This record gives sequence, structure tokens and C-alpha cells, in this order.
Amino acid sequence: MSNYIESVLAKTKEKNANEKEFLQAVSEVLETLKPVVERDENYEKTALLERLVEPERIITFRVPWVDDNGKVQVNRGFRVQFNGSIGPYKGGLRFHPSVNQSIMKFLAFEQIFKNALTGLPIGGGKGGSDFDPKGKSDREIMSFCQSFMNELQRHIGHNLDVPAGDIGVGAREIGYLFGQYRKIRNAFEAGVLTGKGLEYGGSLARKEATGFGLIYYMREMLKANNKNFEGKVVTISGSGNVAIYAAQKVMEYGAKVVAMSDSNGCIYDDIGIDLEEIKRIKEVERLRIKEYLKKYPKAQYFENKEGEIPAVYTIKADISLPCATQNDINLETAQLMVKNGVFAVGEGANMPTDIEAINYFLKNGVLLAPAKAANAGGVATSALEMCQNSMRYFWTFEEVDKKLDGIMSNIFKACKDTADEYGLGINYVAGANIAAFKKVSAAMMAQGII
Ligand code: NDP
Repeated sequence: MSNYIESVLAKTKEKNANEKEFLQAVSEVLETLKPVVERDENYEKTALLERLVEPERIITFRVPWVDDNGKVQVNRGFRVQFNGSIGPYKGGLRFHPSVNQSIMKFLAFEQIFKNALTGLPIGGGKGGSDFDPKGKSDREIMSFCQSFMNELQRHIGHNLDVPAGDIGVGAREIGYLFGQYRKIRNAFEAGVLTGKGLEYGGSLARKEATGFGLIYYMREMLKANNKNFEGKVVTISGSGNVAIYAAQKVMEYGAKVVAMSDSNGCIYDDIGIDLEEIKRIKEVERLRIKEYLKKYPKAQYFENKEGEIPAVYTIKADISLPCATQNDINLETAQLMVKNGVFAVGEGANMPTDIEAINYFLKNGVLLAPAKAANAGGVATSALEMCQNSMRYFWTFEEVDKKLDGIMSNIFKACKDTADEYGLGINYVAGANIAAFKKVSAAMMAQGII
């Protein structure tokens, strides 16, 4: 590593000692930038890396709401506006009890690079709350979303910051958030949130975009390495928005999905999972994945056990798609996956693989589609939603899907071309980081010391 990168990493660690996830995300990026940073002394002269790892702004706020028993609950809300040099801040909202400043900062930091890779004019941001939507009634969800927006509304806008969904925030939550924003502002500003319902300014194919985009990216990655999806066995961690639509597209390409999971455990169905049943369980009924066994008693269910490898990664597969959460795959899990024959991993989730596991995959020739690039289809289609809102017009599903496919193919090409240029082989992780960094750093340089 160059001295400059080392010193910035050391300072970042000192300043953010309690922010494990944020430091992990920063280390993963900075450690790959050596070949670029060493070529130009202006990075150091303008303290570009120090500026890059410091958010432009972090907003935290109180979110009080009343539960169904009339009891007042208080959660903490966040919005991290990390880097606006190439466009308005853009990134989802996550509602999950694990949410804290470190997780918000890691997600917003990742988002800067992801958004740059899409080629669209969007900066990096992220937000959310430690609110747990699980087991809450619709009325409680609405009450929470309204209170959250009462504060968030003063910090967002279609030219300023445009939130969307993430874990725990889907169409229902975006609807309540948008309604409250519209009421407070007394204006229909469709471009302020994305992931909206189709009836009020949403984009066709946004719901499918992250999962479909992941598979489009992987299709290109496999093609470049003389492989494809046909007849391959696939396991998927998660059964939420990203997991479901990645499953749908990979099945369309001739693969067989045999396992999917939620945070409690995984189902395994060796004849191939019935995705319509998963959609009913997860999207409509909002139940646990174990419910699948009621219709398919011959399928198996494996419960996750504290401190052990998540069950879904113990199943033999050719391709693994982590689409649940961060740090799902550590070194021990990666070793088992390689032993079980996994030759490609597609990161639908953000940072699902830790640094040791990434290095192990790369050393063992596993084709790794990195989150920043491979799951960028969601935010890219969000930007297409903003575009349609500005035009006060809409595109058909096929039109949006075709644009998404083109964007994902271009992202893979950027990762591969960069990896080739720097002699990095199949290290598309470094390829993605470098390609994105070049764009963001050029914009930051052009705009002076701000
Ligand atoms: P959802 O809330 O729709 O689904 C999340 C899934 O992950 C659920 O199956 C959930 O299980 C599981 N999960 C969540 N937390 C954990 C945990 N701590 N351990 C194990 N499983 C867990 O979210 P999304 O599908 O939208 O998001 C999934 C991932 O994809 C996240 O990393 C997100 O940041 C990333 N992403 C999402 C995008 C989008 O457009 N939605 C865009 C780009 C990235 P359970 O129900 O038991 O909690």
C-alpha cells in the first residue's frame, strides 16, 4: 500500500474507532486504489482521500410514535449525505434494529462508488432507523413513517437528496413516507423519493431492478469467462426484494434455485424452489420462510445456529447469491463454499462478503461480482424513475428493463476494462473501486477544496 493510503487509513481508524462496518468498507476501497493514487501526487496535495472518507453531512434525529397499545416509542433516525459531487445524494432507507451510525456510513460510502458506476448523475447517501418493522401492524408502520418524514422532509428534495427503499422499506413504507412529505410540503414533488407505487409516479421494473440487474451483470461476467447459467445449481441468501427477483431472472436463464433463506434459516428444495410460493409468503403474507414446508412437505428446513455458518451456505451449489445483509460470508464460510463447488458469487446485498473471504475467493479463482457494481441496478432504475418524473412521462416495462440491461452490461465492461488496464485479472472488486474512484475524484478535483 502507498504511504499516503496507509496514513489516511490510520487516521480514519483513529477518528472512527467504534465504526466497524464503516472502517471495513473504507479499507476495502482504499486498499485497492494504490495503482491510481500513486500515479498522481495531486490526490495527496488536495487531501482528496481525507475528504472522500468524511461525510459532507450526517443528520440524526428523534422519531417518536405511538404503538397500538397507546404507548409512546422513540427510535433514532439517520440520513448520511456523504458525497454530492456528481449529483443529488441518492440512496435507500433501511429500517432494521441493527441500524447505527457505522452501518449508515458504510452504506452511504459504498453508495458513492455504486452510483458513480451507473454512469448517471447521482451522489452517495443513505439513511434509516433502528425501528424494527417485524410484527408491527400497518397502522404502527404508518405512524412511524409519518413521524420519520416529519423531520426528514427538511433535508431532502429532488435536487438535493432522494431516498428510496432498502431492508425493511418497500412499497408500503415508501407510500406512507411520500404521503406525509406531500402533505407537509403541499406539493406533488414526485422526484423526491423513488420506489414509489406505479399509481403515483413509480417506475415499471423498479421492483425487479436490483435482482434482475445482478443477474445481467453476472451474465456478462460469466460470458467473459466462457461460462453461463444454463443448468447451474444456485443458492440464495435472503428472500426479500433483491433475492426474489434475482431468483426469477436466474431461473429464466436456465439455472435451478434450490435454496433461499431468511434470518431464521433456509429452505432446501432439490427439485427447484417454487418462486410464486415464496412471493406469496414474503411479499403478500409477510411470514417466515419456513412456511414453505406447509405446501412442500418434502422440502427441508435448516435453522441458523448462533456462531455457525448460515445454513444456506452449507448447501452444495455452483453459484451463490448473497442477497440478505452485510458480513454474511466470512473466511470459514468462503472455504466451505469453495469446497462445495461454488465457482461464482454474486453480491446482491451490500458488503455481504468480508475482506478475508473476498481475498480467499479471488485466490481460488472464484468469479466474484462485487456489490458496488453488481447490485447497482436498483439505484440506476431509481435514477430512471427520477428521469420519468422530470419528464412527467413513463416508459414501458420493456423500455426500462432494456435500459437496465444496458447499464449493467456497461458497468461490467467498466470493471473488466479497468481490471485489464491495471493487470488485475478477475479482480472485479478492484476494477469496480478504481473505475468509480476515477470518476468521483475527477469531479471532486474540478470543484475545488470544498
Ligand atoms: P428486504 O427487507 O426486502 O429483504 C431482506 C432479506 O434479508 C430478508 O430475507 C431478511 O430476512 C434477510 N436479512 C435481513 N437482515 C438479516 C440478517 N441480519 N441476517 C440474515 N438475514 C437477514 O431487503 P432487500 O432485499 O431490499 O435488501 C437486501 C440487501 O440488498 C441489503 O443488503 C440491501 O442493502 C441490498 N440492496 C438492496 C437494494 C434494493 O433495491 N432493495 C439495492 C441495492 C442493494 P428477515 O425477513 O428474517 O429479516
